[in-house]
Amino acid sequence: MSSRPTSQALGLNRRRVGDTVVTVLNDGYLDLSFELLADITVAETEAMLAAAHRPPDPRFSVSAFLVQDGRRTVLIDSGGGGFNGWGGRLPDALAAAGVAPGEIDAVLLTHAHPDHIGGLVGTDGAPVFANAELILSDVELAFWSDMARANAAPEAMQPMFALARAAFATHDKALRPITSGDVVPGITFVALPGHTPGHGGYRISSGRDTLLVWGDITHVPDVQIKRPDVTIAFDADPDQARATRLKTLDMAAAEHILIAGPHLNFPGLIRVVRSGAGFDFYEEPWCPALI
Ligand SMILES: [Zn+2]
Repeated sequence: MSSRPTSQALGLNRRRVGDTVVTVLNDGYLDLSFELLADITVAETEAMLAAAHRPPDPRFSVSAFLVQDGRRTVLIDSGGGGFNGWGGRLPDALAAAGVAPGEIDAVLLTHAHPDHIGGLVGTDGAPVFANAELILSDVELAFWSDMARANAAPEAMQPMFALARAAFATHDKALRPITSGDVVPGITFVALPGHTPGHGGYRISSGRDTLLVWGDITHVPDVQIKRPDVTIAFDADPDQARATRLKTLDMAAAEHILIAGPHLNFPGLIRVVRSGAGFDFYEEPWCPALI
């Protein structure tokens, strides 16, 4: 008797940040078209991926991040939850990491797009992380809660508004809007607007170590780190998204800090370096020991 698997194994990548342990939890992937990228042709995109020895498909990792400091259990983003067929493996990854959904004290959102909030509400309509505060930018909360804006949005965006509103309504009593600065001890919110108005990252600091979860600063890292000018159709304000990406890459290279991102290629941790007039990156490999 033999069998042949039809899906990838669960993805977990654990890393120390000072006294805190961060686990990258792969939620699966999402498929998009390269035609959604602006200021670059599909052929140019495919050539850049080929040059980086990447598969040519427009298939991007979706990850969430577990942060455990021994006092609190925090989750950053919740994956796609299967919305549009995106992601949905977070519950299994979390179980493999030894954490029950009820143990999560806070869920921190980088922004309210479906591939980041889709895992918040279960098929029974109840919060998956029943004991968690739901923390996100006040700007982001206001944007997706604005009925006038939702009604005026293109048809294709209506399900995104509906999903965000449902997630917020379900977490009514647990919502904590934030502006900037300390969110929970050791984690600071950094506004990175452009992709969405309230898009942001979370800086995890412990001792001398820092990890920045930079949200959707890139969707196709092999393209947008080398070509930060390339935007994606989902950017609410492409010019602002481009400027924020440049500024963030500049800071990441100058500080040489560890970066995590929901759409970075799993195992999901990189360092950005300057390369010529632009940037490049090195992926940190999965390590068998907890470093
Ligand atoms: Zn995303």
